[in-house]
Amino acid sequence: MTISSLAVLGAGQMGGGIAQIAAVSGINVTVFDAFPGAIAKCQGVHKKSLSKFVEKAKMTQAEADAALARIKFTDKLEALAGADWVVEAVVEDVKVKKDLFTKLAAIFPSDNVVLATNTSSISITDIATAAGSTAHRVVGMHFFNPVPLMQLVEVIPAVQTSKDVTERTIALATKMGKTPLIANDRAGFISNRVLMPMINEAFYAWMEGVAEPQAIDGIMKLGCNFPMGPLRLADFIGLDTCVHIMNVLAEGLNNDRYRACPLLKQFVTAGRLGDKTGRGVYEYPAK
Ligand code: NAD
Repeated sequence: MTISSLAVLGAGQMGGGIAQIAAVSGINVTVFDAFPGAIAKCQGVHKKSLSKFVEKAKMTQAEADAALARIKFTDKLEALAGADWVVEAVVEDVKVKKDLFTKLAAIFPSDNVVLATNTSSISITDIATAAGSTAHRVVGMHFFNPVPLMQLVEVIPAVQTSKDVTERTIALATKMGKTPLIANDRAGFISNRVLMPMINEAFYAWMEGVAEPQAIDGIMKLGCNFPMGPLRLADFIGLDTCVHIMNVLAEGLNNDRYRACPLLKQFVTAGRLGDKTGRGVYEYPAK
């Protein structure tokens, strides 16, 4: 089945990026967000990101304009009805996601419509239960940030996911220009099971005075050949998302060694969430 229309839930960093690459690959997209301001911000990000692709001669102005024209926005969930495929990318909160999946199962009664979640860490099997008798069409489709530049999509079948849905997810990710790789449905899958404890440990190292952020990041960049250090990456991901993921790991793997570092939690309490709020470990005055 050809996918010609996509519904994206969440106009944030990830939802916006997923909408953009889908539109570039020729798919019509409707993006839903419940919060005022999120849609206008997302539209601005699309314009800026696509114009950079044009500047770098990676696409023509006409292609960028055509992609932008394929993206519509709505603040009404019901307006998504009729799409061929759904990708949910709202806040990393299991209650919010499950509530939305129950509604999605009703808005998209056709079994052919796949309900994918971009969760970084929450159990796909648990989210799928919210889709009731159609849980077999729920799948993890985990994109990476920034979506237009990152090659990987981690595909995570839930216990309930049908083989056909997993195969169709691999096909769609490939059509969007990405490389899909499969991970099993365990807390954090592969990417965040390995990455997040390292980021958390970097906060512990800073909190315990082992080194300052610039040195921690510099050592990991130069010593491990990382493109950016773990604290800079945490700002980029969003410190709130990092705490959410650590909570999921601690609970899902039932092990206290995954508890979020107190310093990381304090930044979130203070509203210093990283790039998206202009201040996290580092400061980003332009944002
Ligand atoms: P974000 O904070 O940038 O965006 C989340 C968006 O969801 C916001 O625009 C918010 O207004 C909207 N939202 C929140 N609750 C909603 C609701 N009930 N209905 C509709 N919209 C709602 O977050 P993000 O970084 O884009 O993360 C979104 C999802 O993607 C999370 O599940 C996260 O774990 C996952 N993810 C994030 C990254 C990353 O690096 N940030 C990478 C991969 C996956």
